[in-house]
Amino acid sequence: MQTFLQKLSIKPKNAGVSTGQQQWTSTGEEIESFSPVDGKSIGTTTETTRKDYDQVLETARLAFREWRLVPAPRRGEIVRQIGDALREGKQELGQLVSYEMGKSLPEGLGEVQEMIDICDFAVGLSRQLYGLTMHSERPAHRMYEQWHPLGVVGIISAFNFPVAVWSWNAMIAWVCGDVCVWKPSEKTPLTGIACQQLIQAVFARNEVPEGVSCLISGGRSVGEWMANDPRVDLLSATGSTRMGKAVAEAVGRRLGRSLLELGGNNAIIITPEADLAVAIPAIVFGAVGTAGQRCTSTRRLIVHTAMYDEMKERLQKAYAQLRIGNPLETGVHVGPLIDQDAVGGYLASVEAIRKQGGSFVVEPEVLSGADYESGCYVRPCIAEAENQWEIVQRETFAPILYLIRYETLEEAIDLQNGVPQGLSSAIFTLNMREAEQFLSAAGSDCGIANVNIGTSGAEIGGAFGGEKETGGGRESGSDAWKAYMRRQTNTLNYGRTLPLAQGITFDI
Ligand code: NAD
Repeated sequence: MQTFLQKLSIKPKNAGVSTGQQQWTSTGEEIESFSPVDGKSIGTTTETTRKDYDQVLETARLAFREWRLVPAPRRGEIVRQIGDALREGKQELGQLVSYEMGKSLPEGLGEVQEMIDICDFAVGLSRQLYGLTMHSERPAHRMYEQWHPLGVVGIISAFNFPVAVWSWNAMIAWVCGDVCVWKPSEKTPLTGIACQQLIQAVFARNEVPEGVSCLISGGRSVGEWMANDPRVDLLSATGSTRMGKAVAEAVGRRLGRSLLELGGNNAIIITPEADLAVAIPAIVFGAVGTAGQRCTSTRRLIVHTAMYDEMKERLQKAYAQLRIGNPLETGVHVGPLIDQDAVGGYLASVEAIRKQGGSFVVEPEVLSGADYESGCYVRPCIAEAENQWEIVQRETFAPILYLIRYETLEEAIDLQNGVPQGLSSAIFTLNMREAEQFLSAAGSDCGIANVNIGTSGAEIGGAFGGEKETGGGRESGSDAWKAYMRRQTNTLNYGRTLPLAQGITFDI
C-alpha cells in the first residue's frame, strides 16, 4: 500500500458515510476506486443507503442549532486550524488527489494549496460578515440589515477538482454558521474520506458538535435525494450542465436555493497585437492541463486571420514537446483522463469533428503499451473548426482545442460569446482599446474575463462562476459568502409614536 494512503488513514475498505466522531458501519453497496494512472484499485467505500442518509440529515439539522450560536470569529479560528492541518497533510493529500483523479502532482498539490488559501480567506471573513445600515424615513427609527446562518448546505462535487471545490463551499459555509453535507464524486470517493478524517481531528479537539461536517457517498441517486430534500437549505452543485439542469429543476420545484457551477466552453482571442511569447504557454496550459478536464480549460482559440498560420505552426511545435504519462512523475505535462468512458467521449468527439468538416493539425490518438496500461491516456489534439458546429458548441471534457479564424474584434467577441456556456474567457493583446472593449458591457459575456492570462486557473479572492448554461453561481471570494446566509431587514422604533411608512395615517 502506498505510504500516502497510510498517512491519510485510507484503508482498503472505508465506510462512505460519516457525521463526525461517531463510528459508522454502512450496509450500502461497495464503490471501488480505480486509479486512472495505472488502472489499479486504490480501495473501496460504500454507497450511502436511504436510511443512513436520513439519519445524516437529522444529525446535521441538530448540529446547526448549536453551530449557528458559536460566534463567527470562533468558527473562523477552527477553520484556521483546518488550514494548518491541510498545510501539514499537503504532500499526502496532493498525492492522493493526483493518484485518484489523474492530474499532475504539482496540480494536485496546487489544489490542496487552494484549500489552504480559502481557509485563510474564510478566517478573515469570519470577522467581516458585514450588514448595512440605512436611514429610515420615519423619525426615531433605526433600520439595518444583518446576515444570519442559513442551515444545512449540501455540496455535490465533480471528479476534476475532487477536494478544492468542496473546501470553497465548506470553509465559507462554516464561518457563516452553516453545517455541511458533502457528496463527493463517485469517481473520486477516497479524497472525500481523506478530507473528512482530516477535518474530524480538528473538530474533535475543538468539541465541534457531531454533524457540522457530514460525508455521504454515491452517485446520481444520492445527489437526487439531496436535490429533492427540503432539509437541504442550499444545494451547491458542481458538475455538468446536464446535472445542473436536473438539480435546478428539483430544487426549484420545492422553491429551495441552489448554487450551480457547471460546464464551460472557454475561448481565448488572439489579436494581431498579442504578445505570443506570453500567449503560447497560456494556451497550451489551458488546453492540455489536467488533460483538458478543467471547467476552465481552453477549448476554443479564436485567432485573427493575420496571425492564424503562425499560431498554428507554433502550437504544433509546442504540442510536439508535450510529455504524456504518469502524472506523479516530474516533468510530465499530461496525465490520463479520469476513466475509459472519458476516453470514449474523446473518441466520439474526434469522430464528430471529422463528420462535421473539421481537420486535425495535431492528430488525436489513444495511447497504449507500457506506461499506458490503464487505457486512459490520450494525445492532446488541435482541430480547425467553425464555431457554430454542434460539436464545438458543447463541452468535451478532454484535451481537444478548436482553431477558429476571425477578422474584426466585434466578430471575435461574437464568436467567443456564441456558445451556450459562459464561464471563462481571455484576450491576448497589448492594445488598450481592444482589451477594454473585451471587458466592456459589449464584450465577453462570461463570469470570468482575463487579459493576457489564460482561461484556466483562478485565485480564490475573486468570485468564481459563470453565466448562461454554466449556472450563474458564484463561489469562493468577493461577496460569494452571501449565498450561504440569509438576509434580514430590521426596523426598530425607539420613539413614543407609531409613524407609518409612506406617511399613511390610521386613526383609532
Ligand atoms: P457530473 O455532472 O457527471 O457529476 C458531478 C456530480 O453530480 C457528481 O457528484 C455526480 O454524482 C452528481 N450528479 C450527477 N447527476 C446528478 C443528478 N441528476 N442529481 C444530483 N447529482 C447528480 O460531472 P463530472 O463528470 O463529475 O464533472 C465534470 C463536469 O463538471 C464538467 O462539465 C465541468 O465543466 C464541470 N465543472 C464545473 C466547475 C465550475 O466551477 N463551473 C468546476 C468543476 C467541474
